[in-house]
Amino acid sequence: MTALSASSVLLEELSRRAPDGVWSAPGRVNLIGEHTDYNDGFVLPFAIEHRTYAAVALNGTGELRVRSTFADETVVVAVDDLDDLFPTPTGATPRVPEWAAYVLGVAWALREARPDATTPGADIAIASDVPVGAGLSSSAAIEGAVASALNDLWALDLDRVALAQVGRRAENDAVGAPTGIMDQMASMLGRPDAATLLDCRSLETRSVSTGFSDADLELVVVDTQIKHAHSTGGYRDRREACERAARLLGVPALRDLSIDDLPQAAELLDDVTFRRVRHVVTENQRVLDTVDALTQRGPRAIAGLLQASHASMRDDFEISVPELDMAVELTMTHGAVGARMTGGGFGGAAIALVGNGQLSAVSDALRRGFASAGFKEPAIFTVSPSEGARRDR
Ligand code: ADP
Ligand code: MG
Repeated sequence: MTALSASSVLLEELSRRAPDGVWSAPGRVNLIGEHTDYNDGFVLPFAIEHRTYAAVALNGTGELRVRSTFADETVVVAVDDLDDLFPTPTGATPRVPEWAAYVLGVAWALREARPDATTPGADIAIASDVPVGAGLSSSAAIEGAVASALNDLWALDLDRVALAQVGRRAENDAVGAPTGIMDQMASMLGRPDAATLLDCRSLETRSVSTGFSDADLELVVVDTQIKHAHSTGGYRDRREACERAARLLGVPALRDLSIDDLPQAAELLDDVTFRRVRHVVTENQRVLDTVDALTQRGPRAIAGLLQASHASMRDDFEISVPELDMAVELTMTHGAVGARMTGGGFGGAAIALVGNGQLSAVSDALRRGFASAGFKEPAIFTVSPSEGARRDR
């Protein structure tokens, strides 16, 4: 069964009727620009064909009733109680199951964005084919699907950028994961055959044609199957290091530094903090260079930038893991044009640009290499730039 049908079936189980509609939003891969989003910098993600679907029916009550194929429970909350539930205090866990905080958090953030709107109760059923916790942003996909659905059913008339901001608000303040705006913007604004250059400070975007298929290239995702959690651990730590460094260097955000400022930063900061800064500053430049390379010379010209990005995350930002390094090394020795880890790090996925005929050789090499290192078998699949959030039915 497709995820689209699964969401409708689940809604019928929950509501004993057909949905008023089904909305979906895609996951994303980030071509380049990692940990630059919360530093007000540049990113270049694209929406992928894997999507999360929200089948929704207004239920004539004052309650939100939420289900997902991801969890075996129905979570029920009165719409008027959302303001007591959220925001979740910093460092605390949400007072509803975490997965449901993504959905209910979006409903709460929509009400905050449109305080005068009428927001009646609804049944919401979620199904998805976005791998969860793999760095492909299942979180933005669920937020985008629910935000699009309630925006229509509650007649809020918010635009795509506003809905992306609602998703981020839910993730930051309801779930308690301090992530940036990239994922939601990529998921809301995706276009077939193009990546989205996003300035995370101004939220200006530009569609950049990837040209993969014209160049006979495929983008392969190697999901290491190592799950990460954004609300804890390394992601939060890196984010705090960047904010601390910006304060020490007297700039609003690391975005305000250029490569020429690095020698002075090296004098002012301890070695670890300096390397965190160097990653962000050089990565921002690599995003802009990638856009130039894609538009002027085509996708094969971005190889060196992808390699440099991976090295910077491995050595300076220190967010790679042995499985991701192996994925990059093996795809490169088996003919990939370029490869890097993608997403927040500490697990998740790597991406590799591979010539059309080479996928099976690359996959075989990855499976053999992972097995002999004693790593879990990776999931290997291709993705292509796809449409952003939409109504499906
Ligand atoms: P990623 O966005 O890389 O997949 P995150 O940790 O940001 O990883 O988000 C994953 C979390 O989002 C899951 O643990 C779950 O709480 C929530 N989530 C994602 N997809 C679904 C879904 N289909 N149903 C319910 N919750 C989901
Ligand atoms: Mg996420």
